[in-house]
Amino acid sequence: MLPNPLFQVPYTTAVYDRNGQLLGARIAADDQWRFPPGDSALNPKYVTALISYEDKRFYRHCGIDFLALGRAIRQNIQRNRIISGASTITMQTIRLARNRPRTFWEKGVEMLWAFRMELSYSKEEILKLYAAHAPFGGNVVGLEAASWRYFNHGTEELSWAEAALLAVLPNSPALIRPGKNNQLLKNKRDQLLAKMKENRYLNSEEFQLAMEEELPTTLHALPQMAPHLVATLHKTHPGEQIRSSIDADIQQQVEQAVERWSGKLAPARIRNMAVVVTSVRNSQVVAYCGNSPYDRLSGHVDIVRSPRSSGSILKPFLYAAALQEGTILPHTLLPDVPVNLNGFSPHNFNYLYDGAVPADQALSRSLNVPMVLLLRQYGVSKFQQFLQSADFTTLNRNADDYGLSLILGGGEVTLWELAQAYTAMANAINGTPQQKLRISAREQPAYWKQPPFSQPAAWLTFNALKELNRPEEIDWKEIPSMQTIAWKTGTSFGFRDAWAVGATPKYVVAVWVGNATGEGNSSLIGAHTAGPLMFEVFNFLPRSRWFTQPQQGFVRAEVCRQSGHLKGRFCTETDTMNICPKGLFSDACPYHQPAKGTEEGAQSVFLLPPAWGWYYQQKHPEYAAQNSSTQTAASHNPMQFIYPTGNYAKVSLPKQMDGSPGTITLELVHEQDDAMVFWHVDGSYMSSTQFIHKLNLHLEPGTHRITAIDEKENRQNITLIVE
Ligand SMILES: [Zn+2]
Repeated sequence: MLPNPLFQVPYTTAVYDRNGQLLGARIAADDQWRFPPGDSALNPKYVTALISYEDKRFYRHCGIDFLALGRAIRQNIQRNRIISGASTITMQTIRLARNRPRTFWEKGVEMLWAFRMELSYSKEEILKLYAAHAPFGGNVVGLEAASWRYFNHGTEELSWAEAALLAVLPNSPALIRPGKNNQLLKNKRDQLLAKMKENRYLNSEEFQLAMEEELPTTLHALPQMAPHLVATLHKTHPGEQIRSSIDADIQQQVEQAVERWSGKLAPARIRNMAVVVTSVRNSQVVAYCGNSPYDRLSGHVDIVRSPRSSGSILKPFLYAAALQEGTILPHTLLPDVPVNLNGFSPHNFNYLYDGAVPADQALSRSLNVPMVLLLRQYGVSKFQQFLQSADFTTLNRNADDYGLSLILGGGEVTLWELAQAYTAMANAINGTPQQKLRISAREQPAYWKQPPFSQPAAWLTFNALKELNRPEEIDWKEIPSMQTIAWKTGTSFGFRDAWAVGATPKYVVAVWVGNATGEGNSSLIGAHTAGPLMFEVFNFLPRSRWFTQPQQGFVRAEVCRQSGHLKGRFCTETDTMNICPKGLFSDACPYHQPAKGTEEGAQSVFLLPPAWGWYYQQKHPEYAAQNSSTQTAASHNPMQFIYPTGNYAKVSLPKQMDGSPGTITLELVHEQDDAMVFWHVDGSYMSSTQFIHKLNLHLEPGTHRITAIDEKENRQNITLIVE
């Protein structure tokens, strides 16, 4: 029996693009460039050249060419030598597989094995095995490696001259020395070309052209595209030939864009970047750039798979989850005021506050405070579970560990999983199955058991994300050729990571920019670094229209125009809009109240909690006007505590350096700019404030009652338990 497999040798790992173009390769374990035998047919020019040169009766014999053998025996006996020549391609294949010293006995074994091989292999299979294992000089083994090393292209592009050279080379592999004038080798090649012309495989014009071709003068390096992907696949599929889903054209353009941006950002000491492009239709990765090519220190790190602080990039998922669960409707007002949540004081990027802001705007403007408060309402642990259900596998700490900072970059995610989740959202809108990302053409599609995104929530989220302005203050609506993209950027704490991810119905582009070493840099702002690179990539991808609005999955609801909540009893202006089904269970508008002293329902006022209102009126003059002209509701209090909040609060005082207990800073806002507030602690007057209402207090452990009173005798009380 023949051993199976016949060849027990290590192979080069070779990674191809979706059309069979070589992206890159890694040398075999024995340091040989030996490509595994491929699935595709051998180049017919090479087959013609090989058979003409080595074994012209190849298709007619059964492994042994007795005609040639008889002649060889005669010649060898005359010259008194061990049998040489007369080896068929089948016998030579066996010799390559057995790799034993050439003796009379060995020759016999080769013939026997060759005969057996012809019984169990087709002629095509034998030719392929020969071509894949023939020596081509140095550490170049097999036709594919030889074609790349000597001619810098794959075997499908071989010319007649190249095919002829590769046919003669295994017989005298020592003859090839690129760069050296090698007349002997050229003569052998030319003789073979002449023989093929004689047999009418080439016409005289082809022959003339072939004769004029020079021998290769240098050894070429193999292609080096998607090096990080090739390295990863080399680890997981060593020695295999892998047809990936990468599109070499797109990959090349992405790599060029990354190279350009690396050059641009290098002076700002930003050294690393990574890009993933996916095709939404089949959830396949079409470009994979693991790092920038220049960084010698950490350029080898595959950042696509490295967990990095998420910055704001998870906010769209919170918006989608909250819509899906009916926590909010698309325009529900969220508070945007200074807050202190057990010592956690998130602030907006520009330190400004709107008082109250519609949820979709809070998302598109990436406001931190409203999103933190939305997360508190939705629940950290529930949100973590949602992200895990969307296959964010790196968020595996305790929910308490992350706390509310989860939405501002307290957790780490990978670019791969981010691209995957955006692709799933795009699939949800398109109404196609949500699949996990694939990169090898052989991988079966993997579907989520429970698809993470509902069609209406994904649609509403992407609609909120398309309203963002482009970086550099370019308004995409003014540029007709620019396509509509749902996109989001993010910057992590300490400016360590800049993210941008965008989607059209066809493609998702995800970009990370930063320093692999984790070094922060204030130039690293998502919208100014990762964002422009993402748009550049979109600009060379085939364009697509915006998503078609799904017809199913929504319910119609009457919504208060001012608050974005479901219409309440006293709401005045309303809109009918599409919402997620669970939105029907969300709260009705709590801000429209009956005006004081009028018949119920006759006239109503829009009244926000005071802290919200105080900031809100600065951007909404009509709100300020309404509240001074109409009488406000009886229960309305113009003061509100910002810290602490609620009627009871437990606080522990931080210890000072010298061990003495620290102070606590109370803070409230008043609707009227110039109001005076008088502070009382445990019934005793302490101090008064105007404009900014902050009070530092030394308090003994125990329970204290804080009372704030304004000039109109409105009051606010808080019971403080100091530990
Ligand atoms: Zn309302």
